[in-house]
Amino acid sequence: MSVIYLDNNATTRPHREVVQAMLPYLTEQYGNASSLHHLGQRARHAVEEARRQVASLIGTKPRRIIFTSGGTESINLAVRGALAAAGPSPHLVTTAVEHAAVLALKDELARQGVEVAVVGVDSFGRIDPQHIADAITDRTALVSVMHANNETGVLFPIDQIARITSDRGVPLHVDAVQTVGKLPIDVETLGIDLLSMSAHKIHGPKGVGALYVGRGARVRPQLWGGHQERDLRPGTENVSGIVGFGTAADIAGESGLAEQTAVARLRDRLQDGICRTIPIAHPIGDPRNRLPNTAHICFESLASEAILLLLSENDICVSSGSACSSGAVEPSHVLRAMGVPERIAHGAVRFSLSRYTTEREIDEVIEKLPALIDRLLAVQQPPLDPATIR
Ligand code: PLP
Repeated sequence: MSVIYLDNNATTRPHREVVQAMLPYLTEQYGNASSLHHLGQRARHAVEEARRQVASLIGTKPRRIIFTSGGTESINLAVRGALAAAGPSPHLVTTAVEHAAVLALKDELARQGVEVAVVGVDSFGRIDPQHIADAITDRTALVSVMHANNETGVLFPIDQIARITSDRGVPLHVDAVQTVGKLPIDVETLGIDLLSMSAHKIHGPKGVGALYVGRGARVRPQLWGGHQERDLRPGTENVSGIVGFGTAADIAGESGLAEQTAVARLRDRLQDGICRTIPIAHPIGDPRNRLPNTAHICFESLASEAILLLLSENDICVSSGSACSSGAVEPSHVLRAMGVPERIAHGAVRFSLSRYTTEREIDEVIEKLPALIDRLLAVQQPPLDPATIR
């Protein structure tokens, strides 16, 4: 039986072309990209070609791309690196709904004495750019915001935020892990200083990502070693992973808007189908400005883990909020920040689609889900009192 995979914000299925492009660099072309012999130079050439492909996806020059081990490392390099470059007593502005890579980092930075301002969101998960402006002080060394929320898919107005930061002369880091390759982004036009990306969210391999470092952005390295990646990220390059990332970026760039429109149509079909047939289903987040592939639906009075496991038994893979918080019984920090009531937030399920999702799969989920939800509702009802049965 085939699996219906609707957890693409957690990770995606690598494209066949990605795997094929990587294979030579895991077999015969195993050179170190820093070696001067021809095997090394072939690896170097492959890394530079991938740098060109990733740069082109976000509208910049190849030399602005620093390869890392993924989104988390890119974010750490951007945030820690920018604060380190800013000198003593830096101030950081971020939001309450960031991914753990930023949230946990800001907690650690606060323990180390960095002053952090956390900007909240409204009940639709939206941010008011004016609140970012209000949080900036004359000591603010960095504003770090996500482009799209990984749980709800809600998009932040990066263009407006970038205008504010550039007017105030404060560097802006954008966690674009969920948007690069799904939506067009032109970092140079937007005036973004630092932008984090990850290959495995766009049908590339896991464990590889990149940081865009704009002209004039000041970042100190956070690892010490060799001179790779413009002295910003030492360590032998993950050549096969980088090649896979480049190929995935190329495919994402080529497939463009038409594909995302098709994905959004399926997402809407799924959300409408679920909300029409299941009265306890509540869609969460801004219905307009959100990722085309994401539907976040709360099933009132149920526990998301129970829904997730029952769906998994039926070969349907979804997530409860963010993948990283699966298994935790607390409602997600994102829904908390949005003020979603606990009995609704506990039943949060994230459905995230990809270009590989088919209409047949969506219709199968719409057809199966009501009975599965009924089963869960039935087991959580208190048993009937026999005296009341006639
Ligand atoms: N930022 C966001 C918004 C994410 O969704 C994720 C992964 O889920 C990350 C950062 C971390 O990326 P990676 O898994 O490549 O470390």
